[in-house]
Amino acid sequence: MQVPIVLFWFRRDLRLTDNAGLYHALTSGFPVLPIFIFDQEILDQFPSGPDRRVEFIHQTLSGISQELQALGSTLVVKYGKPLEVLQTLTEQCEVRAVYANHDYEPAAIARDQKVANFLEEKGIAFRTFKDQVIFEKKEVVKDNGTPYRVFGAYRKKWMSTLSDFYLSSYPTEKYRQNFLQTDTQPIPSLESMGFTPSGDTLFPPAQLPETIIRTYEFTRDLPALAGTSRLGLHLRFGTVSARELTRKAVELNSVWLGELIWREFFMMILFHFPHVASRPFNLEYEHMAWINQEDQFERWCNGTTGYPIVDAGMRELNATGFMHNRVRMIAASFLVKHLLIDYRWGEAYFAQKLLDYDMAANNGNWQWCAGTGCDAAPYFRVFNPETQAKKFDKHKEYIKKWVPEVGTSAYPSPMVDHAFSRERALKTYKAALNKARGIAEDNR
Ligand code: FAD
Repeated sequence: MQVPIVLFWFRRDLRLTDNAGLYHALTSGFPVLPIFIFDQEILDQFPSGPDRRVEFIHQTLSGISQELQALGSTLVVKYGKPLEVLQTLTEQCEVRAVYANHDYEPAAIARDQKVANFLEEKGIAFRTFKDQVIFEKKEVVKDNGTPYRVFGAYRKKWMSTLSDFYLSSYPTEKYRQNFLQTDTQPIPSLESMGFTPSGDTLFPPAQLPETIIRTYEFTRDLPALAGTSRLGLHLRFGTVSARELTRKAVELNSVWLGELIWREFFMMILFHFPHVASRPFNLEYEHMAWINQEDQFERWCNGTTGYPIVDAGMRELNATGFMHNRVRMIAASFLVKHLLIDYRWGEAYFAQKLLDYDMAANNGNWQWCAGTGCDAAPYFRVFNPETQAKKFDKHKEYIKKWVPEVGTSAYPSPMVDHAFSRERALKTYKAALNKARGIAEDNR
């Protein structure tokens, strides 16, 4: 006779400690079989060869699997379509419920809806929980129940809603004996899913660098320093707990806490305004006459624009999967304003390359830089890459690290003139707004 069990489905919450959904599964009264599904439909879109993010997930799962093995249990890892994998598992085992944590991206919401429908038909409960944020959905909204569009006001409400209740950990470690006792199952190899190990990727540690956080406001804008937490990747995949980090942020530094609130702000925006995934938040900017010149885009991607700070950033991204935030802003602004290339091209390039890629943060920040988003930088603010470099990389340490040929004949001259591009951007943005407003008039 089969033992009735519950499944815990890992997604963006790859840790055994302080995990809301896992805690509820472990206290459900049934043995817990943890599972992870490499989503074939997503992975098939990636080029074969090395992929740092897939490798990170794979390494993390191996760690979790070993921990579970030591507890006499296992992690079931499958490569396939989530619904089909769950169909098979619910045929093979007597599953009483499936536990998971909320995911707020449009495609994930659609996937979970399909899974919920299927499980409901089979009479299996699908229990999902808030885990990756402190506040989700409608927990921080205006008094009239509508979502915020301005960060400052959102942050204020977020802070006044915060209490210890929201920050306390889920003590999963107390219930470890409730994992299903079963034989170890192998994890599919990277090669079997069409990838190869890069062999040389060093991921930043998952520990909070307290010394850096304490002085964050003095170092965060200087790309030559290790002056930020480098926890983006871990927040993305849930290898750290947002509650634990937020507790630390409250204790150590309100400026850094503000960054964690930006993260939730953009997640909230994507949840309430899912059109941003493919269209400008401010639809007036749909009328932008982007130039979209492919050879110029290529120079931006390769880091050969002739603007050293932009090139340094792009080369850092291409080589490591990371780019410093200040430089992300300068590089994004350059693409959108100097080259008049659709922000969605840059957004897609970052999505391919960033280790910490997160749809909400990437989209929100690209739209912020392009001036098309909520509470965005006004379109008439055009960063001057040279002044930015002088201010934030005074001794050119960052630039020289990534663009060693700078100052020699091997380095190209600027591909566009700053003053000319600035004027052109201002005119194009203004024309787009006029067009949108004209159209709005016509439709009255
Ligand atoms: P820290 O500076 O130590 O901040 C701590 C954490 O706060 C970050 O790890 C991140 O989770 C969050 N955070 C910080 N700044 C922001 C922000 N502006 N918006 C949202 N969350 C923030 N961040 C991503 O996590 N994923 C992305 O795909 C992403 N794309 C970006 C694209 C552009 C064009 C720009 C300008 C910024 C983007 N950011 C993105 C925001 C920011 O650059 C990174 O979060 C940060 O550089 C990561 O480094 P860190 O982990 O050392 O962050």
